[in-house]
Formats: sequence, structure tokens, C-alpha cells
Amino acid sequence: MGFPTFWGGVHPPQNKDLTRDKQIEPYLPTGNLTFPMSQHIGAPNAPVVAKGDKVKVGTPLGSADAFVSAPVLSSVSGTVKEVGPRPTVPGTFDTCVVVENDGLYEKDGRWAPLPDYENCDPKEYLARIREAGIVGFGGATFPAAVKFAPPPQDKIKWFIVNGAECEPYLNCDFRLMMEATDEIVKGTALLLRLFPEAEGVIAVENNKPEAIAALSESVARLGAKNVRVQPLTVKYPQGSEKMLIEALTGQEYVVTALPADVGCIVANVRTVQQCWRAIALGEPSTERVVTVTGDAIAEPKNVRIPLGTSIRELVDFCGGFKEAPVKVLAGGPMMGMSMRSLDVPAVKGTSGVLALTARSTMLRRATACLHCGRCVDACPMGLVPSALDSLVLGKEYERFETEGGMNCIECGSCTYVCPACRPLTQSCRDGKSFVMAQRKKRKAAGK
Ligand code: SF4
Ligand code: SF4
Repeated sequence: MGFPTFWGGVHPPQNKDLTRDKQIEPYLPTGNLTFPMSQHIGAPNAPVVAKGDKVKVGTPLGSADAFVSAPVLSSVSGTVKEVGPRPTVPGTFDTCVVVENDGLYEKDGRWAPLPDYENCDPKEYLARIREAGIVGFGGATFPAAVKFAPPPQDKIKWFIVNGAECEPYLNCDFRLMMEATDEIVKGTALLLRLFPEAEGVIAVENNKPEAIAALSESVARLGAKNVRVQPLTVKYPQGSEKMLIEALTGQEYVVTALPADVGCIVANVRTVQQCWRAIALGEPSTERVVTVTGDAIAEPKNVRIPLGTSIRELVDFCGGFKEAPVKVLAGGPMMGMSMRSLDVPAVKGTSGVLALTARSTMLRRATACLHCGRCVDACPMGLVPSALDSLVLGKEYERFETEGGMNCIECGSCTYVCPACRPLTQSCRDGKSFVMAQRKKRKAAGK
């Protein structure tokens, strides 16, 4: 039987077996933890602690006064050791708070369940979701309280819970669907109180039949009204917001718009679970599950870690490297970011650490375009990646914009299929960054 899907896309090898059956293991680091003040799309936090301050699990480290922002909270108890620029996953420096870990993981007493949460005004959920620092854990890290408060004219018909996890190698969402099934279903039902006219759809790619069965059983057992589980065709990037909306509702929407403009709210399974835990249990967003995998890792695992854990310490917990990796990525092989150093902290958007040997990477030199058109067939956004690549290389940024370059979702499909090994996605990323920087400059100059 065919399941809904979208146009374009690719079928990369899944390589999920290394951690598919590995239960989530909790890990509490012993080393210091580092908290970048920007772990979300939007305005960075301003630090509200100084060297020498005592903090506990759940203590705010930064203020998030701007509308599109989310506070950064401590995930550890101890003493602030430093506030200043430190390296982060992309290799850039960001203002960070470093906390000397006292090893006690004492909780900040300010957190408690939202009183009478099943009957209160659901708008109270938004304040709790915001103060708990919850963002989209699928990778986009958009502040959840902003996403869940669309303008009143947007009539929300679909609340889509994203369990597609189409990125190869990663299993953090799959394990969560298997191990926190009821919390995801309860979270979906609870958040539907914000959107009373919407149907809740938990969307899962059809290569995860155990998760589909567990979630379906939970929906039936808990009597979750207006919630259903929808299997999807296995195809990359099915888990991207735009592709999910197209597959589930048959509607197209431009990426420069918001899903709410077409009646949809899309939230990752972990985001929904964390919202439930913040509202029902009074638990702020201080941890996440990370898949540590790849053929260079000694013991691939799914690990629940406090945010701010050093990637090096996390890799050590997984037995370190059994072979020297030629590439270590934060995230999966399609959209992940190459890391220059392991001495950086895991943040809200860190879904995986993927360490690959030369055997499992394609490290060939790029050659000239063969004009084969494969990248065009693969692009789910209907773009011409080969042409966008040429425009960026020729610094023709205006034409890059008019040819739709800003619609690129950086999914990596074009790079994956290119027989000439051209870094097409990187070109689009560079083109988009340049255009965004120009727009910012023009705005600052009042033009
Ligand atoms: S051009 Fe962008 S959206 Fe299209 S396949 Fe390449 S990375 Fe994906
Ligand atoms: S897939 Fe590569 S070689 Fe083929 S048209 Fe696109 S850029 Fe050129």
C-alpha cells in the first residue's frame, strides 16, 4: 500500500542498525558544562549570571527578552566559572556560560507542575513552554512558544507531530517514540487544547513499524481524541516541514511563509514530549537524546545527556574511537555539520554525533558539472542546484535570489546524487548566508 509523500527526494542508505535497538542510556557528565547563549533561531540570550555565581539544574543563565528567543537554563549544579566567547559546534565563537560541575545535579526549586494543567486556560501553556526554554528539537530550533501562538487569522487545521526521522544513521527520535510513547501522545492531546479545531497527526516513516504500532496502541489506550498516527513513504527529506505538509495535506507552501499560513503547526516528537514534561511535571528543557554513531565509534549508543555536555566526553562515554575518523559530524550525513573539534558543547539542536572512517565517506574531489540533471530531479524544492552553484561561484547573488536560491532547505539531496561530487548544498548555504547578510546590512542602514 502506498503512503503519502512529496515530489523529488532521494533514497540514501539508512544505516540505522548501529543504534536502532540501543535503549536510551542516561549519562551525567563529570566535567564542566558549557552553555552557548544562542541555541535557537532568533535573538541570543544576554547572560544573567557572572563568574562565581551558584546555579542549579533549571536556573536561567540568560534572558530571552526578544520575541523570537528562548532562555538558556543550566542543566547542572555548580559554580559559574567563566562568561565569554567559546568555540561552538559550527566552529564559530559564541558567548557562553561555563559551569564548574559539582557532580550533585541539584534541582532549582523554582520548577513545579503547572497547577490544574488539564483544565487551566491553555494560553498558560505558552508561558510555561517559553520559560522552560523549549525549541524545535528536530534541528530547526525555532522557539516553540512562538510557533504555537500563530496570529488569530490563521485557522489551524492540522497539528503535525514529526516522527519521520528521515536522516540516515539517527535514531534519537525513534527511541523516544519507543520509550516515551505515552508522553508523546499525551503531549499531542494536551497541545491540541491550543488548537481546538485541529486534528493531531503523528507522522512516522514506514520503516519504523514498531513505533507506528506503539503510538497507535497508546492513542487507543489513552483515548486520545482527534489524534491519529499516519505512516509515510520512506524517502529523504520526508521529515522536513514543507515535505510533511505537502504529504499530509496535499497543499504546497513556500518556505518563506510559515506553516500556520496553510493551517499547519509542525512540532518534533521530542518537542511535544518536552512540552508535556514542562507542563505536567514542571521539568525545564535541560537535556536531550543524542545518537552517537558511525563506523569509527567503539560503542554506538543513544544517550540522554544534559545540554552543555562536552562532545568529547560524550564520545568517550561511547568507548571513544575504535579507528581514527576522517569526518565527525554534528547531526546526520545529509544535513549535519562537520566539526573541527570535539571540545564543543552539545546544544538543543544536537541530534547526533556521527564519526565516519574513510570506508564510509565519499571523499572524492569535485570535478566539472556533467550536465546530467540528477540534482534537478532530486531537489524537492524544484530548484536547479547546478545553476545555483554556478551563480554563487560567479558571485551573481541577485540572480541566485531570483532563481529561488533562498528557497533551498539545505537538505543535501543534490550533493548526494551528484556524480561529479560538487558541493552543491554548500554553495546554496553560502549564497543564502551572503544574501541574508546583505539584507541585514540594508536594514541596519534603513534602506
Ligand atoms: S538545492 Fe537545496 S533544497 Fe534543492 S536538493 Fe539541493 S540542498 Fe536540497
Ligand atoms: S548532478 Fe552534478 S553533474 Fe549532474 S547536473 Fe547536477 S551538478 Fe551537474
